[in-house]
Amino acid sequence: MSSQTEFEIADRLRLVQERIDQALARSGRSGEMVRILAVTKTFSRQVADEALRAGLKLFGENRVQEAYAKFSFPPFQAELHLIGHLQTNKVKKAAQLFQCIQSIDKLETAQELNRVAAGLNKKIDILLQLNTSGEATKSGYSSVEALCRDLEAILELKALRLKGLMTIGPLTDDKKSIRSAFRRLKKLYDKLVLERILPPHAILSMGMSGDFELAVEEGANLVRLGTALFGERGS
Ligand SMILES: *Cc1c(COP(=O)(O)O)cnc(C)c1O
Repeated sequence: MSSQTEFEIADRLRLVQERIDQALARSGRSGEMVRILAVTKTFSRQVADEALRAGLKLFGENRVQEAYAKFSFPPFQAELHLIGHLQTNKVKKAAQLFQCIQSIDKLETAQELNRVAAGLNKKIDILLQLNTSGEATKSGYSSVEALCRDLEAILELKALRLKGLMTIGPLTDDKKSIRSAFRRLKKLYDKLVLERILPPHAILSMGMSGDFELAVEEGANLVRLGTALFGERGS
């Protein structure tokens, strides 16, 4: 894979930021902030370091093992989120490495993460992931009801901080179905903020390189971008 200069990344970042600003303006949210999470999966540590120099502050990986190899040493001076499925046998490594796990979709995983985090004397942020696409291959709670059923027990876990919600849009060109998936998550988000289960500026993580403008139009305040910042992935 060719190494990229931080200038290329900075150029792409500028373009992405413009597109986000335009999407914000289209939806009457001008001036609001959308955080960009740089998805460095399959890219090297060197690329991540260049992204950091280009001004990116928030990073995401979808595999614990890969992230551990890339970021545990030398220590990476930025916030790191897990955006892929968390298996129980990877909880310990994940708790050591990530500030936030965006992909919680089971009470048992949250409980195990809580136990490990407490042992490390650490607080870990979590998002609950909803499967809004109905695609069986995607992780996430299968329904709003299933997610809500776990809320009370999750809020009891003292080493975890529930910070918001996450989803992956359906893999399709049909903008209507992508939009409706994002709308479902936004609706749940608004309800949980209103009920003070989520804090006022909770995270709404939705949108990837192919659909982040739709996500921003539907209320996302964090988008997860790989390809748009780093180009096509090699593998
Ligand atoms: C890979 C990945 C992304 C980024 O995908 P791009 O299309 O390259 O922007 C975002 N979110 C999750 C959960 C991912 O696994």
